[in-house]
Amino acid sequence: MKKILLIGTGGTIASEVSDSGLAPELTTEQLLSHIPAISDICEVDCVQLLSLDSTNITPAHWLKMVRCIREHYDGYDGFVLTHGTDTMAYTAAGLSYLIQGSPKPIVLTGAQKPIGFDSTDSKINLTDAFRCAAEDMPGVSIVFNNQVIPGTRARKTRSKSFQAFSSINYPNLGILRDGVLLRYIRQECGKAPVFYDTLDTKVALMKLVPGADRAQADFLLERNDALIIESFGVGGLPEAGGFYDCVRYWMDNGRTVVLTTQVANEGSDLGVYHVGHALKNDLGVLEAYDMTTEAVTAKLMWILGQTRDREAVRRMFYTPVAKDILWPAED
Ligand code: ASP
Repeated sequence: MKKILLIGTGGTIASEVSDSGLAPELTTEQLLSHIPAISDICEVDCVQLLSLDSTNITPAHWLKMVRCIREHYDGYDGFVLTHGTDTMAYTAAGLSYLIQGSPKPIVLTGAQKPIGFDSTDSKINLTDAFRCAAEDMPGVSIVFNNQVIPGTRARKTRSKSFQAFSSINYPNLGILRDGVLLRYIRQECGKAPVFYDTLDTKVALMKLVPGADRAQADFLLERNDALIIESFGVGGLPEAGGFYDCVRYWMDNGRTVVLTTQVANEGSDLGVYHVGHALKNDLGVLEAYDMTTEAVTAKLMWILGQTRDREAVRRMFYTPVAKDILWPAED
C-alpha cells in the first residue's frame, strides 16, 4: 500500500466556527478522522505544519512547505497538502517552481465548506487528493471538485461554490469520476526532483484602469525588483500618462517589467497593437502570453531569487516549467 504524507496548513477545510468567524483550528489527525475509509486507499502519516487562513500565507511559508516535503521525500510515495482556497493557486505555482520534475505526486486540496459541516466538499476533495497522491500522477497539482489541475495553471474563479478552481489556458490533467482517476495528461518528471530554496519576494502587481498615469507604477517599481502590469486585452499601455518613460527608466535601473492581461482566458500578445508593439520591441518588456498571473508572480520570485542578469531572466521566464507557458516558444 502507498504511503502518503498529509501536511496541514489550515484553511476552511480545517476551520471551525469561532466568535469572529471561521478559523483554522483542526489538526491533520482530526481531518483524517472524518474520512476513515482512507485506510483502504493508502497509509497516511500526518504533519501539522501551519494553521493559517491562506490569506496569511506568504512565500516564506512556501519555502517551509518545500523544506517539509524535501525532508520527507524519500520516506513517502506522495504528498497531500491541505490549504485554504484563497491563495492556493499562488502556493501551487510557488511549489511548482521550487520543486521541479518531481516523480512523486504533490497534491494540494482544500474546501469551500469546513469538514465538520453537514454540507461540505471537504471529504470528497480530501479523499480524491489521497487517491491522486497514491497514483502515478507526478508533479504539483490541485485536486478540487473532481478536477486535477496543473499547479501552474490554477486560478480561483468562484468565491463560494464548490467549483472553485479552473485550469487557465490548459486542460485538466485528469478528472475523478466516482472515485476513479481518469488521467488525461501525465506531467513530465525526472528521476528525482530539483529543489530550490530561495525566492525574491519583491514582486508587485498592478492592475491598469482607464485613465491611469505612471505614478502608481513608479511607486511600485521604486520598492520592488519586478512589476507585473495587468493591462487590457492582448496587452499594451496607454500612450498618455508617461508609462513608456516610466518603464524605460526603471528597466534601465535593473527592474523587470512583465505585461499581462486582465482578461480571464487566452493570454497576451503584445505585438498585435501599436500600444503594445514598442514595449516589446524597443523597451524589451516581458509578456505573460498564456501564463496565469499567479504563475508569473511565483516564477519571477523564483527567477529573481537566482539571478538579476537581464538575459538570464528573460531566458528563464520564457522557458516552460511544469506546463506554465506553451505559446509561443521563445528562447
Ligand atoms: N479564507 C479561507 C482560506 O483561504 C478560504 C478557504 O479556505 O476556502 O484559508
